[in-house]
Amino acid sequence: MKSDSKIYVAGHRGLVGSALMRNLQAKGYENFVTRTHAQLDLTSQAEVEAFFELEKPDYVFLAAAKVGGIHANNAYPAEFIRDNLAIQTNIIHAAWKNDVKRLLFLGSSCIYPKLAPQPMKEEHLLTSELEPTNRPYALAKIAGIEMCWAYNRQYKTQYLAVMPTNLYGPGDNYHPENSHVIPALIRRFHEAKLAKAPSVTVWGTGTPRREFLYSDDMADACVHLMNLPDEKFVPLLGQDRNDGLAPLINIGVGHDITIRELAEAVKQAVGYEGAIEFDSTKPDGTPRKLMDVGRLNAMGWQAKMRFAQGIEQAYADFLDRGERTV
Ligand code: GDP
Repeated sequence: MKSDSKIYVAGHRGLVGSALMRNLQAKGYENFVTRTHAQLDLTSQAEVEAFFELEKPDYVFLAAAKVGGIHANNAYPAEFIRDNLAIQTNIIHAAWKNDVKRLLFLGSSCIYPKLAPQPMKEEHLLTSELEPTNRPYALAKIAGIEMCWAYNRQYKTQYLAVMPTNLYGPGDNYHPENSHVIPALIRRFHEAKLAKAPSVTVWGTGTPRREFLYSDDMADACVHLMNLPDEKFVPLLGQDRNDGLAPLINIGVGHDITIRELAEAVKQAVGYEGAIEFDSTKPDGTPRKLMDVGRLNAMGWQAKMRFAQGIEQAYADFLDRGERTV
């Protein structure tokens, strides 16, 4: 991307999109086109097409999606499949019609099978059954990956799907039930500290393992990939092949921790002194989710944020503004 390239970050106010904006701005980019949800309904094909025709962005980061944790995915399956299919279909097609140079499609690690070998490699996509709790979301994202690949093959576009592992960071959704585990626990430990509650309840058994990536690291990886020279970027796109290995790249840190260890880390960052209890009537979800980041590392990128520091920064963000956002 040149410094004056026109960049569209779809979903620029979310956890992912806001991190992308910070990273791009820090690198000197200033020609952004953005729209809030109220200004542009990305599930409307007509609105998205009119927007692309008007703005003609050069580069697109597709970070707009209907997202949520294990409870939200279970409670709103219709919205998770419909909204995500609509948003990504509209944007990818409009990008092609309007000659976007490169597009990065953001998904998540839940596209991989429930019992995928660990760490999960890109080629494990579609090798066995998905985790049922977030299957509607996962299938929408898998369709988006396939769509990027189909356009790359048929139209020689440069659309790459990137799959970040579980993310956390500034601007997260701190809803007590619908959020992901880190913001949920930050809120719960914080409220327990204020209330001087004797214990905090964590969902599930505490034994599932997850990998957590700070959102600013994720954004840095995305911008790094978007800026790869053609000789590195184009071979990732599968333009000339249909061999089962989709144009897909994992973004992660390469190691994981248990939910119990996570709860201990959040407890410490928040400064809560009571006990931790586990509610095994709540779902655990996938037993383990760790990404293989060999492909990403081979492209010259590695995560930088230390976990303890990332959790402290996330808690600071919650105190700054998150406490009010539910
Ligand atoms: P997942 O990675 O798609 O399963 O998404 P989540 O971030 O929602 O959940 C990760 C793990 O954290 C699961 O094993 C949950 O059972 C566990 N967990 C523990 N406490 C909570 C909580 O308060 N909220 C959420 N969302 N998950 C929790």
